[in-house]
Amino acid sequence: MIHSLAYGDVRYFRMARTFLGRALYWTGVYLVDGLLVDSGPPNLARDVRRLVSELGVRQCVTTHYHEDHSGNHALLAGALRITPLAHAVAAGRLAQRDAAPQLYRRLAWGVREPARVAALGEWLETPHHRFQVIHTPGHAPDHVALWEPRRGWLFSGDLYLAPKLRYLRADEDVHAMIESLRRLIALEPAALFCQHRGQVEHGGTRLRHKLEFLLELGERIQALRRRGLDEAEIARALPGSDLFWRLWTGGDFSKRNFVTAFLRPRS
Ligand SMILES: [Zn+2]
Ligand SMILES: [Zn+2]
Repeated sequence: MIHSLAYGDVRYFRMARTFLGRALYWTGVYLVDGLLVDSGPPNLARDVRRLVSELGVRQCVTTHYHEDHSGNHALLAGALRITPLAHAVAAGRLAQRDAAPQLYRRLAWGVREPARVAALGEWLETPHHRFQVIHTPGHAPDHVALWEPRRGWLFSGDLYLAPKLRYLRADEDVHAMIESLRRLIALEPAALFCQHRGQVEHGGTRLRHKLEFLLELGERIQALRRRGLDEAEIARALPGSDLFWRLWTGGDFSKRNFVTAFLRPRS
């Protein structure tokens, strides 16, 4: 299922695999000035192929290697002779088949084909725009945001997602995420484009709310640690339930991951 939305010169294609008519997990790609920002999950290859052949896509950039963002890179290379761009640290990983993706990832997004990518520079040019490539690790080590300073557009990949999150992925680095959020907030974006949410109203304020939420959560976890609680006890003491996500992802998304990540020393 693909829905198309237009935000002025930026188009957003919200997409999801459906099961019994219901979307399993929404994600999306943007198209701006012939540049495709991410290529969508592999199990939507048929829709993406139709989309890119109709839309005059000339370039593709990867916000990060997760397969809901890089899943059709091989298709773009084969059908349109486009070599997607990605942060240099993702090149090796994207060129290989994912060894053993968890069941929830295979169900929601499918399995990505290996694809060759070219390394991003500091700037990315399209016919009418210049995007600054900002390395923003945390959600993933290769994560980048794209910043168009003249228009105030910020493509934030998966760094924003929501002002408050109930869970963290096991491989996320929360300290790096906090630094990356600070870097993006300093830009004072006029328009924030989230890969899963579409355009976020009051984007700068929302990014600040997310940063404040993480800082408060970190303080709370450290305070509980000082009282002698272990990681499992701290996770139970945090508000909200992560049960659905914990079960669905086999523990890859959980509150406990927040605790582990905050208590891990900064790298
Ligand atoms: Zn992601
Ligand atoms: Zn994502």
